[in-house]
Amino acid sequence: VSTAIAAGQRAYELDRKHVFHSWSAQAQIDPMPIIAAQGSYVWDGAGRKLLDFSSQLVNTNIGHQHPRVTAAIAAQAQKLATIAPQYANDARSECARLIAERTPGDLNRVFFTNGGADANEHAVRMARLHTGRYKVMTRYRSYHGGTDLAINMTGDPRRWRNDYGNSGMVHFDGPFLYRSVFNSENEQQECERALEHLERRVALEGPSTIAAIVLESVPGTAGIMVPPPGYMAGVREICDRYGIVFIADEVMAGFGRTGKWFAIQNFGTGRHGTGASGATGNDTVTPDLITFAKGVNSGYVPLGGVAINDAIADTFADVAYPGGLTYSGHPLATAAAVATIEAMESEGMIDNAARIGSDILGPGLRDLAARHDSVGEVRGLGVFWAIELVADAATKEPLAPYGGSSPAMNAIIATCKENGMLPFANFNRIHAVPPCNASDDEVREGLAILDRALDVADTFMK
Ligand code: PLP
Repeated sequence: VSTAIAAGQRAYELDRKHVFHSWSAQAQIDPMPIIAAQGSYVWDGAGRKLLDFSSQLVNTNIGHQHPRVTAAIAAQAQKLATIAPQYANDARSECARLIAERTPGDLNRVFFTNGGADANEHAVRMARLHTGRYKVMTRYRSYHGGTDLAINMTGDPRRWRNDYGNSGMVHFDGPFLYRSVFNSENEQQECERALEHLERRVALEGPSTIAAIVLESVPGTAGIMVPPPGYMAGVREICDRYGIVFIADEVMAGFGRTGKWFAIQNFGTGRHGTGASGATGNDTVTPDLITFAKGVNSGYVPLGGVAINDAIADTFADVAYPGGLTYSGHPLATAAAVATIEAMESEGMIDNAARIGSDILGPGLRDLAARHDSVGEVRGLGVFWAIELVADAATKEPLAPYGGSSPAMNAIIATCKENGMLPFANFNRIHAVPPCNASDDEVREGLAILDRALDVADTFMK
C-alpha cells in the first residue's frame, strides 16, 4: 500500500507539472490521485476507499477491474495487439455481431470509432451524405462530445466558446417538465407541446435542408430528463414525414445504464400510453443510427461506434464512405467489448440495473427528496438518476447557475468525498450513477452518504 501511495504522490507532482486537463483552468485544479480500483470502489492517494457513485464519467458500467474483461484484454494483447481496419479481425467481427444483435430494427452494421464524439461526427457525416442535406437539429440541454462538430451539436455552455456559427446546427427545446419552457402542467402536455415546437422549427428551417435530428435517448450530463411517453415516437414520425435521419446518441445511456441494452428500448412506438418502461418486445422506437461508446466495454479501452441501418449502409454499398480511423475496431478495444457484453449477459447486469432503479435507488432518492427541502426533483431510471438541487423550492432557483458552480455545490461534493463517495456533479445537480452490477448494499451506502450531503445542501436554502 505504501508503494501505491508513493506512486500516487509522484503521479500528482508530475501531473501538476506536465498534464494539461480537459475543460479546466489549469492553475485552478487539484486532481485527486487514484491508485487502485475494484468493483464499485476506488482508492485515493492516501489509500482511502471511496464508493464510485459516478462510474467515472458514467462509463464503468460493469465496475472496475472486472476479471473477465481484464483477462480478455491481456489474452488479445498476447495474440494480436493491433491490426489495421481494412483487415477482418475476429474480435472486431464478433463485437459487431453482438452489438447488431442487441440494437433494435435493422441496425445491422457497425462502424467503430475511438469514442463518443467521433461516433457522433461520423453519424452526422453519414446522415448528410445519405440525404444530401446539411443542417442538423439537436436539443438544448444535451452533450454530444468535445470535438469540433460534436461540441457544436452539444446544447450546453461548453459549446459557447467553440461556436463559430458555421456548423450547420440548429438547436431546439426538448421536453423537461420540471423546468418546462412550454408552461406544461403534466407529461402529456409537455410531450405534445415539445413535439409541436420541434415540428414548427423543422417547418421554419426548411425540411428539405435538414439531414438529421440527433437526440440522446435519455439526456445524460444535461440532467437525465427521461422523455415523456410518446415523445420519441413523435420524433420518429416527424423524421419519417420529412425524410430526416433520426440519430439516437446512446453514448452515456446505452449498454445497460437504463436497465435495457439501449435506452431507446424503453420507449414504445405508440404516441400515447407507452413511454419509460412502456415498450414491450419489439415495440421499440427504432432510430436510423445509434451512436455508442463508454459502457460498450466499460471504458477499459477507448471505443465508440455507429450502429447503422440497412438503408444508410446501402448508400455506401457502391460509393465509398469518405471517412476512417487508424484504430477503427481496434482488437484490444473490441475484445474488451465482447467480454463486457458477455459478462453483462451472463451475470444478469441489465436486469440488475432495472431492479436497482425500481426497488432501491428510485425509492431511496424519492425518500431523500421528501426529507430534504433542497431537492427540487429526483428523476431517472435504472442506474441513471439525477438529483436537482434548488435554493428555493417555490421559485425552483437552482443551487448553482446554469453553466456554473457555487459554494453550496462545492460543499455538497466535498461532503460526499469526506464521507467516502465519488459523486457525479453538474451545475446544480448530483447524479446517482453506480455501475449496473452494483450490489444493493453498495447502493444503500451511496444513498446514506447522499443523505448527509443533502443535510449540508439544506443549510444553503433561502
Ligand atoms: N455523447 C454523450 C451522450 C456523452 O455523454 C458523451 C460523453 O460524455 C459523448 C457523446 C462524448 O463521448 P467521448 O467523451 O467518448 O468523446
